[in-house]
Amino acid sequence: MWTEKVDLHSHSHHSDGLWSPREMAQRACDSGVKVWSLTDHDTIAGWDEAELACNEIGIRFIPGVEITCGVEINSETNKSSSWHLLAYFPEGASDEFHSWISIVSDSRVPRMLSMLSALKDLGIQISIEDVEKYAEGTITRPHLARAMIEKGVVNSIQEAFDKWIGDDCPAFRERPLPSIEEAVKIVKKSGGITSLAHPKHYGITTQELVERVKELGIDCLEAVHNSHPDSYRWELMNQGFPISVGSDSHGTDYRPSPGKMPASINHLHSYFRP
Ligand SMILES: [Zn+2]
Ligand SMILES: [Zn+2]
Repeated sequence: MWTEKVDLHSHSHHSDGLWSPREMAQRACDSGVKVWSLTDHDTIAGWDEAELACNEIGIRFIPGVEITCGVEINSETNKSSSWHLLAYFPEGASDEFHSWISIVSDSRVPRMLSMLSALKDLGIQISIEDVEKYAEGTITRPHLARAMIEKGVVNSIQEAFDKWIGDDCPAFRERPLPSIEEAVKIVKKSGGITSLAHPKHYGITTQELVERVKELGIDCLEAVHNSHPDSYRWELMNQGFPISVGSDSHGTDYRPSPGKMPASINHLHSYFRP
C-alpha cells in the first residue's frame, strides 16, 4: 500500500522558504496531504502559525525542525562534513530543547556578519539590514543571495552560491555546528523522533550509512526524498529502518508545494502513518 498523504519536510520564510507557514500548510492540503510537518532550518519559529493553520484546514501537523549538524566520517566517498537531521516532536518539545535550538539558530548571525565582511573585502557592499529584509526568522545564505541580486551583484541565487557564498567560495565562512551526537541526544531526551534527511547527498555507501545511523541511534531514514531516484529509495526502504518522506518544498518554482510523494505505508515510521 502506498500513500501520498504524508509529507514531513517543508520550509517556510522562517528559514529559506519563500512563503509563510500558513501558505505552505494550505499548499500541502491542496496536494492532498493529511500529515504534514514544517521543518525549517534550525528554527521552530513557524510552529505556532503552522499548527493553527493545520487545525483550521483539517490536516495533522507534526512540529519539526531540520538541524544542520557536524559529522565526522571516515569514508573515502563522504562528500560532506555536515548532515541534516530532521527532528519531530509528536508531543511538543521541552523547554530545554527550545533553549538549545535558539542558541543554534542565533549562531547564524555572527557567521552572516563575517560573510558580509568577507564580501566587503572583495569589494561588495551588503549590509546586515539588506539581508535581514529577506529573513523572517533564521538568517540563511539564500537570504544573502537575494540581497546580492537586489544590489545587482549576481543575477540568480545559483550564481551567488557558485561564485561567492557556496562552500569553498571566497566569501564562505563556517559557523559552529552542534555535533550530530549532541543533536540526537537532545531530541530524544525531549521525546522527539529523528530522521536523517536526504541521505544520498552525503555520498557514502548504504552499508556505511546504515552502520553510522545505527550507532547514532537515529530512528528513521528519509528514503523518500524528492531528489532521490526510485532505485535509491527502494534500497533504503529495505534496510530494516522505518522511513520518512519529504518533498523538501521551499515554495520555489522547482517544487512549489509540499506533497505528491508516494511512500510505502508499511515502511513509514508508525507515528507518521495517515
Ligand atoms: Zn537539508
Ligand atoms: Zn530541507
